Amino acid sequence: MTDDLRRLSLWWDTLPDELRTPIGGPLAGDATADVAIVGGGLTGLWTAYYLKKADPALRIIVLEAEQAGFGASGRNGGWASALFPASLDALARASSRDAAVRMKRAMNDTVDEIGRVAASEGWDIDWVKGGTVVLARTPLQLQTAKDEVAAIRTWGFGEQDLELLDAAQASERAGATDVLGGTYTPHCASIHPARLVRSLARAVADMGVVVHEGTRVSAIEPGIVRTGHGDVRAEIVVRATEGYTRTLKGHTRTLAPVYSLMLATEPLTDEMWAVIGLGRARPSPTAGT
Ligand SMILES: Cc1cc2nc3c(=O)[nH]c(=O)nc-3n(C[C@H](O)[C@H](O)[C@H](O)COP(=O)(O)OP(=O)(O)OC[C@H]3O[C@@H](n4cnc5c(N)ncnc54)[C@H](O)[C@@H]3O)c2cc1C
Repeated sequence: MTDDLRRLSLWWDTLPDELRTPIGGPLAGDATADVAIVGGGLTGLWTAYYLKKADPALRIIVLEAEQAGFGASGRNGGWASALFPASLDALARASSRDAAVRMKRAMNDTVDEIGRVAASEGWDIDWVKGGTVVLARTPLQLQTAKDEVAAIRTWGFGEQDLELLDAAQASERAGATDVLGGTYTPHCASIHPARLVRSLARAVADMGVVVHEGTRVSAIEPGIVRTGHGDVRAEIVVRATEGYTRTLKGHTRTLAPVYSLMLATEPLTDEMWAVIGLGRARPSPTAGT
C-alpha cells in the first residue's frame, strides 16, 4: 500500500519515510468510544486533535479507509488560505452580519493557527506565509479589485487584511506584464499538505487517539459505525468523508463531489524565482523536489 500511495501525488512522493509508514492498523472487532470519527483527512484529524486537547480523557477512534491523508488533505494545492468562495454578503444572508465577520476573522486567524501548532508541535511542513497577490491586467479587473477592497472596508477589514496595490506595488510582488494594479492579502501560507496531514495523524495517535487505517466504513447509524472489521459504538459520530461521502450507505445524494487537479513544475532555479518575482512566498527546497 505504501508504494501505491507514493504515486498518489508529488506530496506523497516527497514525504519522509517516517511520515509515510502506516500509523495504525485496521480495526480488529467491535469497539466502543466517546467519539468515532469517520475519515482521516484534515477535518477528521483536527477534530480529534482539538477534542483531545480540550478533554484528554475522551476516548476517540478515527476510522480511515486507506491511510490518513489519502484524500484531498494529502494532495491538494498546498495553500493554507483564508480565501472563501462566498461573499460576506452571502454569508450574512445565511446567518447574520456579526456571524459573517466572525467567520471571516476565524478563517484569517486559522492560517496563523496552523503555523503556530506546526511550530509548537515540531512539525516540518514547509510553512511560508507569503500571502495572496491578485493581479489586475485590464481596466475591468482593476475596477473589480477596487470594488472588492471598498466592499471589505464596509465590514471593518483594513489594509492589514486586504490591500489595494497600484501598478508599481503589484509588479513588485509578481513579475507579470501589463500590470495595472491588484490586491494583496497576507492571510495565506504555502505548506506541504502531506507533511501536515501525516504529522497531524501521528500527533493525534501519540496523544492517545486510536487511528485505524485500512478500515472502510460502510454505514453510519445513530450511535454506531459499521465496518467490515466490526462495529464502533459511540455517542458522537463525526462524518468527515468530504468528497467520498456519497459512498456511504444512504448518502448517495448528500454531497456532489467536484474534482480539480494540481500541476507541479520541476524545481525552479534561483534565476527563475527572480524573474517570477514571488520570492517572498518561496517554499523551502523540499516542497519543490
Ligand atoms: C486538487 C485539489 C486542490 C486543492 N487545493 C487546496 C488548497 O490549496 N488549499 C485548501 O485549503 N484546500 C484545497 N483543496 C481542498 C482541500 O484539500 C479539502 O477541502 C480538504 O482536504 C478536505 O479535507 P477532509 O478531511 O474534509 O477530506 P479528505 O481529505 O478527502 O479526507 C476524507 C478521508 O475520508 C476517507 N474515507 C472516505 N470514505 C471513507 C469510508 N467509507 N470509511 C472510512 N474512511 C473514508 C478518505 O480516504 C479520506 O482520507 C483542494 C482540493 C483538491 C481536490
